[in-house]
Amino acid sequence: MIIGSHVSMSGKDMLLGSVKEALSYGANTFMFYTGAPQNTRRKAVEELKVEEAKALMQENGIELKNVVVHAPYIINLANTLKPETFELAVTFLKEEMERCQKIGTSILVLHPGSHVKAGDDAGLQQIVNGLNEALKDTGYQGKIALETMAGKGSELGRTFEQIRFIMDHCQYPEKLGVCLDTCHIHDAGYDLSDFDAVLDDFDRIIGLKHLLVVHLNDSKNVKGARKDRHANIGTGEIGFDILNGVAHNERIKDVPKILETPYINGKAPYKEEIDMLKNQTFKNIE
Ligand code: FE
Ligand code: FE
Ligand code: ZN
Repeated sequence: MIIGSHVSMSGKDMLLGSVKEALSYGANTFMFYTGAPQNTRRKAVEELKVEEAKALMQENGIELKNVVVHAPYIINLANTLKPETFELAVTFLKEEMERCQKIGTSILVLHPGSHVKAGDDAGLQQIVNGLNEALKDTGYQGKIALETMAGKGSELGRTFEQIRFIMDHCQYPEKLGVCLDTCHIHDAGYDLSDFDAVLDDFDRIIGLKHLLVVHLNDSKNVKGARKDRHANIGTGEIGFDILNGVAHNERIKDVPKILETPYINGKAPYKEEIDMLKNQTFKNIE
């Protein structure tokens, strides 16, 4: 099982600190934002202690190919109403890919975007336009993993068909892959109680080989609620057995699993949650 969590990157240690944090959870991979998730201010890659981080990863068996970067969620490629929002998204995405290339990561998770009030079709087409612009002449050797979304507000990417549309219409499909978020697809209406059937659907519509990363989260809301509120593993509407089944599913065993569950009493729950999944037994976290 390749499993880790979202970790922070801050302070003096930067990416080295991210690796230390991941190791403290018993993880063998991790996901990070290259700066604050809610803004686009970024430090130079030279300041991130990348070489020290890589050395520590190598010592501890964390493979760079499994490490995930998440683009900030404020960028919206689907916006057709405000050109400056769209242009900011394109410019930032380009720079983010350059940063990933310098760091050496190859999976960049991206929320496809929200159409605001323009409707699904216009929004999806705008995402395609944005990806075409961002990916043109990129030196980035990795892939953008389009995340399956809950469908909150006007979020796109809430069905496998919408993700497929983007991949089909982008000029650089070889640069695209998918991030499957269990909370999001549950909230979007997929029934995770038969996860193999969900994977069959995914395979038929998108292709399982395009699945690059799984976000493993429980959900605070019922199936189809379109809310997107993550719950700790085994404490939400999806439940431990299903999420444990996802973590151990043979068909996706080489796909990194990343926890994005909420802190409990100000403390990261990831060590305990990873232990639970390793032991395949639910335990309440105090
Ligand atoms: Fe996300
Ligand atoms: Fe996610
Ligand atoms: Zn979410």
